[in-house]
Amino acid sequence: MDAWHRRRRERTVDRGRADCRDARRRTRIIDGSGAAPIENGRIVIERGRITRVGRAPEISAPAGAEMVDLSGRTVIPGLIDLHFHIENDPKLALRQLSHGITAFRDPGQWDEKFDELRRMIAADHIPGPRIFTTGPHIDGENPAYPADSIVARDSEEARRDAEMLVQRGASALKIYFRLPFASAKAVIDVCEAHRIPCTAHLELLDARELIAAGLHGIEHVTSFGISLVPRIEAEAYRQAVLKSNDARRDGRYRLFTRANLDGPEAQALYAVLRERKPFLDPTLAVFERRNDGKASNVTPVLASGFAKMKQFTRRAAQEGARIVVGGHSVVPFAGRGQAPWRELELLVESGFSPIEAISAATATAAAFLYRSDELGSLRAGFNADLVVLRGQPDRDVSAIRTVERVMVAGQWIDTAKYREY
Ligand SMILES: [Zn+2]
Repeated sequence: MDAWHRRRRERTVDRGRADCRDARRRTRIIDGSGAAPIENGRIVIERGRITRVGRAPEISAPAGAEMVDLSGRTVIPGLIDLHFHIENDPKLALRQLSHGITAFRDPGQWDEKFDELRRMIAADHIPGPRIFTTGPHIDGENPAYPADSIVARDSEEARRDAEMLVQRGASALKIYFRLPFASAKAVIDVCEAHRIPCTAHLELLDARELIAAGLHGIEHVTSFGISLVPRIEAEAYRQAVLKSNDARRDGRYRLFTRANLDGPEAQALYAVLRERKPFLDPTLAVFERRNDGKASNVTPVLASGFAKMKQFTRRAAQEGARIVVGGHSVVPFAGRGQAPWRELELLVESGFSPIEAISAATATAAAFLYRSDELGSLRAGFNADLVVLRGQPDRDVSAIRTVERVMVAGQWIDTAKYREY
C-alpha cells in the first residue's frame, strides 16, 4: 500500500505528469482474450490507458515510471457485470467495485435512479464503476415489473419509446416478455439503426424467432424455456404466465426439467445460435437452487430444473452463443456484492474452463457492450481497468474472491472503504 499512497501524493502535486505504472517480478497476467496466462508479465500504464503488455524481459519501463511490485499476484481485466439492478441501492455498485467489478450494465431502470450513484462517484473523485444503462424495460400491458417498465401497446408505441430511450442516452435497449413480436421487432430495428445492442428477457417470446429477427442478446437462461419443449407444452406455459406473472416461479424449473437438449425444438434453436451467435447472459446465480441440507424448500423439480439450466448454458455456448456474466445483484448463494463471483463459479460448474469464465466477464462482455476496442482486455490502447488477485483464478475460479487491488482508468480504488458499503 506504500506505493499507492506515494502515488496519490504525486498525483495531487503534479497532475500533468505521465501516469506510468509497472507490474513486475513474476506477475501473472490473464488478458481476458482466453489466452493462457503470461507467467512473468509486465503492464505499462500511462494516462489511464494501457500502453504495453507482455513478458517482463521484453518490456522496459519508461523513464521515471512508478513501479508497483505485484510479485506472486495475478492481474485480470476489470470484471463487467452485464445484469446489475441498482434498485434503490447505489452503494451496492461501489461495493461491487471493491470486488473487482469495474463496469456494469443495468438492464432495466429509469436513468434518474443512477443520479445518486453518479453523485457519489463525483464526490469521491473516482473514475468508476463505468455505468451502462438501458432505460426501463419496454414491456407489454400488465408488465412484470411495473415500476421498471415502459408499457408499449403496439409496435408504433414500442418504436417511439425505443427512440426516446436512445435519445436519453441508453447504451442498449431491453425487451420484456409481454411485448408482442411485432413490437419487439420494432425495438430491435431502432437498436440496429443506432448501432446499439438489443437484449431481451423472453420467456413468452420464442428465442428462435427473435434471434433470427436480429436480437443481439438474451438475458436469463430461462428465456429459452419455451424453445426447448414441444409446442403444446410451450403454449400451456405461455398462457399460464399471461394469466399471472407468478406462474413463472416454479413453472420455469418444470419447463427445464422436461426440456430435451437433443430434441427437435432444441436443434432448431441451435441452428439459429450457430448462424447468429447471440450473446447469452444466463444469470445462473439468481436461479440457483440446491439441496445443501439446510434449504428444505428445494423440491426435486427445482434442483433438476437448475441442473438442466447449467447443462443448457454450456450446450448453447458449444452451439455458438457468446456467454457473458450478469450477477443480478441479489442471489441466493452469494454475499452482498458477490453475485458476479458466484456467477463465474457457476459457469465453471457448468463445464466452462476458468479462463473461459473470465473471458465471459471481460472481453466477451465488452463485445456485448459494443466496446471491444477499449474495454475488457489487458491490451495496449485499452482502458487501464484491472484487478489484482492474490490467488490464481485460472487454476481455481474461486480465487476470483481474493481481490487485493482494483484499478479503474489507471487509478487505484480505495477498496477497504467500499467493502463497507
Ligand atoms: Zn434482471
